[in-house]
Amino acid sequence: MSKYIFVTGGVVSSVGKGITAASIGTLLKSRQIAVSVQKLDPYLNVDPGTMSPYQHGEVFVTQDGAETDLDLGNYERFIDINLTGESSVTSGQIYSAVIAKERRGDFLGGTIQVVPHVTTEIKERFKQLAEKSKAEVVIIEVGGTVGDIEGQPFLEAIRQMRNDVGRDNVLYVHVTLLPHLNSTQEVKTKPTQHSVNELRRIGIQPDIIVCRSDYPISQEIRNKISLFCDVGRTAVIPLPTVSTIYEVPLLLEEEGLGQLIVDKLGLGTRQSDLRQWQELVNLIKTPREPVNIALVGKYVELKDAYFSVREALRHAVLYHGKDIKLNWVPSETLETNGDYSVLRSAQGILVPGGFGIRGIEGMIKAATYARENNIPYLGLCLGMQIMVIEFARYVLGSNKPNSTEFDANTPYPVIDLLPEQKGKVAKGGTMRLGNYPCQLVDGSHAAIAYGQSLVYERHRHRYEFNNKYRDKLGKAGMVFSGLSPDGRLVEVCELANHPWMVSSQFHPEFTSRPGHPNPLFRDFIGVAKDILREGAQPPLPLSPPD
Ligand code: GLN
Repeated sequence: MSKYIFVTGGVVSSVGKGITAASIGTLLKSRQIAVSVQKLDPYLNVDPGTMSPYQHGEVFVTQDGAETDLDLGNYERFIDINLTGESSVTSGQIYSAVIAKERRGDFLGGTIQVVPHVTTEIKERFKQLAEKSKAEVVIIEVGGTVGDIEGQPFLEAIRQMRNDVGRDNVLYVHVTLLPHLNSTQEVKTKPTQHSVNELRRIGIQPDIIVCRSDYPISQEIRNKISLFCDVGRTAVIPLPTVSTIYEVPLLLEEEGLGQLIVDKLGLGTRQSDLRQWQELVNLIKTPREPVNIALVGKYVELKDAYFSVREALRHAVLYHGKDIKLNWVPSETLETNGDYSVLRSAQGILVPGGFGIRGIEGMIKAATYARENNIPYLGLCLGMQIMVIEFARYVLGSNKPNSTEFDANTPYPVIDLLPEQKGKVAKGGTMRLGNYPCQLVDGSHAAIAYGQSLVYERHRHRYEFNNKYRDKLGKAGMVFSGLSPDGRLVEVCELANHPWMVSSQFHPEFTSRPGHPNPLFRDFIGVAKDILREGAQPPLPLSPPD
């Protein structure tokens, strides 16, 4: 039977609960313990698929096509596992399941209540994941902050689990913030005490408290938390703010969290091996020359909207022993003032995914700039569609080619819905989601990057390359280097007469991991790092010129 670790958060949101849950996974995996992870999101949306990136940040897509919270991306990257839709549970899913059962008459005339019906449904999700994943330990992160109205049923469900599966099989980890008062130069524990009281009020006594802080936490503070919150002294784990999230597992291990969990859950003594993480963090902390990348997108004000893209770039630069200087370019600014100065220093241009017309013309300008100036370009999903529109405009000598998403009446719909999608565009129902196979063309940049001819990557889009234009664009130098195995769908395209202009209809960022960058990101940076741009110093000649 699986054991459960429940991770809750207190005091403030965005305290680092997700990274802590992911890091607990790293610590257990480093001891050869099989883990799985689940995120409970208290909002009533069934999934974050229809939420604005400004509200929610990135929508992370699992291999089986679930649209999930970005924390799942952190779990996958930290634990190096592929999760499924079962790892993402929202109040919306729970309530719709309970109501659907009620309508079917499953409850035999009973009164349907939060306790027990909703909580039972929640616990079913825990058990389903445990059974399906066969994990020894399932880590479950409760979204939101203790005290939120919406989170109550989830907290009640995790409380009940202690009796359901036995005290020795569950562990409650509470992550809080210790604020610092400048006037007295003190780190304060009171909000943590209140937050623990709030948990106790609903019957949960945390076993471990992880204390986030921007300042060092003294032994005295730890003792105080131990006393007031009734946890062992070794179970108060400080987690100071660090420059890279990948250092968190190492810090937690150093504070004894891994051993503590193993002891408390009776998992036996197993040696942890975090050497790869240590090497990774050492490398991250070594000063490296930056590669200048311009990310031209529409949600750039909120960096979380491109969380996995940023991480994938970080993995790729590390692979080449480089650092990243990421220039976030709001695509609209390229439209309105036509100022390309921000692109002039870029060694590579990346256009990520997105929906809707805003900022599209600016992205197209960025693609023109990359094509004309031989700047490496990586297009992700929408970024591929932009590259196709741009190239079609150039080849057809017209500014009319477009995607029907942005111009329903374009005479050149180079990106369009498939015939079978037309007529059922009700948002949400026609998306291509999750893993699809892609056959790569020998000798192409894409095939060289992946080093194999059949790859699986994750999709999240509605529109596709329009095959009517394959011939014309192909003759003009566009290589359709990745196709669905039946040859019908264009999954990757690139330009023949360009150092590296490659785009994919899928989202390669979702499969990138620290230590194994996604091949397209890796090669994009591999080419970009050697490009000299405005403001850069050419390397010194080794010998004087003749
Ligand atoms: N809006 C485009 C489509 O639906 C691209 C989506 C994306 O970039 N994820 O096809």
